[in-house]
Amino acid sequence: MRVHSNLYIGGEWVPTTSSDVIEVVNPATEQVIATVPAASTTDADAAVSAAREAFPAWSRRPTDERVDYVERIAAAMAERSEEIAALVSDEQGMPMANARRVQAGLPISVMQSYVEIGRDHAAAEPERIGHSIVVEEPIGVCTFITPWNYPLHQIVGKVAPALVAGCTMIVKPSSETPLNAFLLAEIMHEVGLPAGVFNLVTGAGRTVGEALCVHPEVDMISITGSTEAGARIAELGAPTVKRICQELGGKSANVILDGADLAKAVPAGVTGMMLNCGQTCTALTRMIVPRSAQDEVVDLAVATLDSLSMGDPTDDDNFLGPVVSASQKSTVQDYIRTGIDEGARLVAGGPDDPEGYDTGFYVRPTIFADVDNSMVIAQEEIFGPVLCIVPVDSEEEAIAVANDSPYGLSGAVWADTDDHAVAVARRIQTGQVMVNGGRFNALAPFGGYKTSGNGRELGRSGLDEFLEKKAIQLPV
Ligand code: NAD
Repeated sequence: MRVHSNLYIGGEWVPTTSSDVIEVVNPATEQVIATVPAASTTDADAAVSAAREAFPAWSRRPTDERVDYVERIAAAMAERSEEIAALVSDEQGMPMANARRVQAGLPISVMQSYVEIGRDHAAAEPERIGHSIVVEEPIGVCTFITPWNYPLHQIVGKVAPALVAGCTMIVKPSSETPLNAFLLAEIMHEVGLPAGVFNLVTGAGRTVGEALCVHPEVDMISITGSTEAGARIAELGAPTVKRICQELGGKSANVILDGADLAKAVPAGVTGMMLNCGQTCTALTRMIVPRSAQDEVVDLAVATLDSLSMGDPTDDDNFLGPVVSASQKSTVQDYIRTGIDEGARLVAGGPDDPEGYDTGFYVRPTIFADVDNSMVIAQEEIFGPVLCIVPVDSEEEAIAVANDSPYGLSGAVWADTDDHAVAVARRIQTGQVMVNGGRFNALAPFGGYKTSGNGRELGRSGLDEFLEKKAIQLPV
């Protein structure tokens, strides 16, 4: 049992002014594995003051010096990668084999990626436009609000470019998965990051989160979370005209066209969707298929699902673990009941608890066929292991159905040729599209259209989010 009673503010571990704590529960064992402070708004104010105080010196440092810190942080994270994987697996539930690759490997590689991006940024000459020099400067003090599904990755996607840019920051992680943020704060301390550049405050979104978002000394808020929280945070930042970057929900389409290689497309689609028990903002939860191929797709999808073993996250052989919490479990099971009530055809899984799992927030991975895109299960983000197969009668209908969503975060297209798939991908209103099995690229811009958000993370685009442009007009 870990007990964190301090917050990381101004380069020190300081006691919270609140006596409330948040219990962190292992979703596989249902045991409380740690407590962290449910910080107060006074703590939030102290963290913002520390970040504000640190900003002038940090922002004026040469970029290369800031990138040196990023390099040291990445190296320290890499040294602790097994510990990171185990910690996130414990608090979040992802089985270890995937956790090593995704929950530890991905944030480490994203932190590393900002070394090269940062060096390029340091070396770049300011742009000249006629008699103007355009310089880029850090936006200032940033609040980072993050979720629980890829918790360290989502923190690092903000922290790494903000450090390079010269911003200072306060991280408010999800209350379900705060432990990895403490580990990151330890690393910041070990590498000697100047006091106040990185601050960690844990607590409820509605209290401490809101205090960090309305604060007049905060210049920018970046949130990864639900669309509801993202919209609320935009309201909170509006009176003081903060820059708001929102990475929000999704209900992404996997468009499989006539002529696509079903034997590749369907297993890849099911496996990718079921990663992290479907608790992935970019999960391809709507598989849009030619009606004439639906039976074959269902057979392949069910066979793929049968090959994914579920169970104890500490067992390397398991692909599926529990979902993150009891409330997430009941939300997902309610959606499965809704799908049945709406008339979708249940071809795998179901709303009942899986047999043999008396402990742990396990849900039966579920596939529905004959889903109409207007159904609740096709429109709303379930954030669990539930796949909807939506049959359509033409390519035009497939594109229309893919776009008939309030969200626009991710997507995929499988077609007979790459050119054909790219042509269809260009018509999908979403921030990224994988064609014919193209993989996620952590250097490419990441973000959403429509209610999936505003702004882009990762790669050079992620750095741009933290920069202001200043035009200096020279005499002519
Ligand atoms: P959530 O919106 O409940 O919480 C996210 C964070 O926001 C938490 O830290 C929470 O405490 C905080 N928060 C909530 N209300 C707040 C408020 N009023 N003021 C300040 N902070 C507040 O989301 P979650 O359940 O943790 O994560 C799941 C959601 O995140 C899903 O909708 C998922 O799609 C989305 N998500 C998006 C991306 C992306 O990059 N687009 C990535 C991962 C998750």
